[in-house]
Amino acid sequence: MDTNRSPAPVSTTSDEPPPSNGSDDAEPGGTLPAAETLATTRPIADLNTLRQDPQWQDWRWQIRHRIRTFEQLVQAFPALQRNTKIAEVAARYPLAITPYYLSAIQKPDYSDPIFSQAVPQSRELLDPTFLHADPLEEEQDMPVSGLIHRYRDRALLMTTTMCSMYCRHCTRKRVAGTRECTISVEQLRRATEYLKAHPEITDVILSGGDPLTMSTSLLERIVQAVRAVPSVEIIRIGTRTPVVLPQRITDELVRMLAKYHPVWINTHFNHPQELTPESRAALAKLANAGIPLGNQSVLLRGINDDPRVMETLCRRLVRERVRPYYLFQCDLVRGVEHFRTPISRGIEIMEYLRGRLSGLAIPTYVVDAPHGGGKLPLLPNYIVSVSPTHTVLRNFEGMLINYPEPMVSASRPEPPPAASRSPGVWELATGHQSAILPAGNRRLQRRPAARKSAAASNNGQQTFLWA
Ligand code: SF4
Repeated sequence: MDTNRSPAPVSTTSDEPPPSNGSDDAEPGGTLPAAETLATTRPIADLNTLRQDPQWQDWRWQIRHRIRTFEQLVQAFPALQRNTKIAEVAARYPLAITPYYLSAIQKPDYSDPIFSQAVPQSRELLDPTFLHADPLEEEQDMPVSGLIHRYRDRALLMTTTMCSMYCRHCTRKRVAGTRECTISVEQLRRATEYLKAHPEITDVILSGGDPLTMSTSLLERIVQAVRAVPSVEIIRIGTRTPVVLPQRITDELVRMLAKYHPVWINTHFNHPQELTPESRAALAKLANAGIPLGNQSVLLRGINDDPRVMETLCRRLVRERVRPYYLFQCDLVRGVEHFRTPISRGIEIMEYLRGRLSGLAIPTYVVDAPHGGGKLPLLPNYIVSVSPTHTVLRNFEGMLINYPEPMVSASRPEPPPAASRSPGVWELATGHQSAILPAGNRRLQRRPAARKSAAASNNGQQTFLWA
């Protein structure tokens, strides 16, 4: 999955063996067994029946029964038949929805956050000229096929192009699912040779596609090969599997991963509705195996671009022992224009979260810059003014506070403010006031001392409450 955002496709060149092809064990990527084409033909009304299937908990059964074509989609959602453009979208960008993810839909239309992330819509055909197939120029930072080296100490290994569900907002629509195949033995050999030749790389991210769509034995071969590079300290896995195919988080898988610690997992929940009992059980299994969990969301119009939705998501993730890590601004990728929000919306959301959630639950909002510029953190502006003696800061309540700089910088005495003057930023920046608060601040009203200090002095400085 692309939450680590620095990928490129796994390619198979003529001197490389073809991708393995999916028997249950040889599996990943490659051509899935013929059974894959047996995706459900039952209408969505029968999902409850499908849920009763004795194999529902078998992740391979889930993959075999994915919706893969427009015709299957229409069987599940007959109303889509009327929109002929959707067939065109499904032909342009890969389509796959696991029965499990389908079953998490509460309302079968685009107002449902799960429906909207999984079901193609005609707006994917909108392509303003500033959108690109590879906006992050990921493929240009690939010294060997399938290995991205952008930041000095990190590299990202594309292990597969397959995902169990193809997110409509995917940054790698050009790659994920266009051909479901896995890294070849030769590619893996070249990648690990590169890692050995670059000991500055201490952190390797296994990504794709989604690495957890591979069989445990194949994934282990890759993890083992990377772990065998002496300079690699941390292995991270980027996966959307706990969200869209939690049945894949088996005891066998977590036992295997735990052998290669430190192994971290970053997953990709975008909406609280995705935190179902099944996905929470999958997260618990991973956390119980000592795997630190992070989450990378993408800010998506109509899905999670509401501060309250994001607050709920972050709060619930922490409860499941998942640290909200990044909130990504949607990339300038073809086919996702309808999901993009203005950057100002992301800033508003961050403004809302600060003060309502602990720092542990607040992700870093980042833009992954076009042209491979890397991740740029964006924050509301908390610095209001600076002087050699004081920096004026603003908190989440609108309180303005002076932060005295070290004495060594304090060389410029300022005249005292005129007695009649209303205190402002200048008084803070020159040290004549300590803080200014908006009127009616509840937190301060809870402090008896602060109530008294509205007009009292504190080390020669007054704390004012705006009236
Ligand atoms: S389709 Fe979804 S899971 Fe797959 S790479 Fe794209 S965002 Fe990640």
